[in-house]
Amino acid sequence: MLHIKVDEKSFNETNILKNIDISLKQGEFISIIGPSGCGKSTLLNIISSLDNDYKGELTGDFSKLSFMFQDHRLLPWLTVKENLLLVSKTKDEKEIIDLLETINLVHILDEYPKKLSGGMARRVALVRSFINKPKLILLDEPFISLDYPTSMGLKKELLTFYNKFKPTIILVTHDFSEAILLSNRVLFFSKNPAKVLVDFENLDCHIFNQMKNDEIKNKFLAKYPKILEGEI
Ligand code: ADP
Repeated sequence: MLHIKVDEKSFNETNILKNIDISLKQGEFISIIGPSGCGKSTLLNIISSLDNDYKGELTGDFSKLSFMFQDHRLLPWLTVKENLLLVSKTKDEKEIIDLLETINLVHILDEYPKKLSGGMARRVALVRSFINKPKLILLDEPFISLDYPTSMGLKKELLTFYNKFKPTIILVTHDFSEAILLSNRVLFFSKNPAKVLVDFENLDCHIFNQMKNDEIKNKFLAKYPKILEGEI
């Protein structure tokens, strides 16, 4: 169990997060949706201990954690293999090859990032986030600015890894459909100071059925029409 409690987080006297209290079971996949600038990335920075300047506490094991960002953040002077080995604690090449094989990517092992398409580089970043078998993975809009087929492919690959390793995942997204597809819980944040407005349990996740997912989405939005603007 992980417990994230942020009583207060401010930047220059402006209160960004207030009374956030989230409990997560091991292996849960949750999404966080909220208006732009409400503090979602700030919360991920707190969870990953990049930011310790807040009132509150994290309880549970946050030590085995990885972070995937919007951009791939691969080092351009290293090959794919070298980029992946760089973060590997065991430096075990076989582990890296196995991960790449899982999503049919072994052929790019010796490529440099500049030779890869944006989608391909993002797939490598996805593989990187599963190296060292993290117990918690933070995803900050990892599917943003990808075309639809590439984005759907990456989501399928994320679920392949998720089902294999069962980490706890926290996904920040602005895309409700994506959250319904991927996560078993969706937390909706308010505008600043951000707090959790609705904690939506989504039992029918991981089903690639657009019509069914639209149905879930529309039913929820009919109940909370202003939720995506951070209002209830
Ligand atoms: P979100 O991820 O929800 O779009 P952020 O967490 O990036 O929002 O930012 C929340 C608010 O905090 C924004 O108003 C942003 O300008 C402000 N902010 C973020 N980081 C800093 C910082 N290092 N210094 C001052 N203000 C910041």
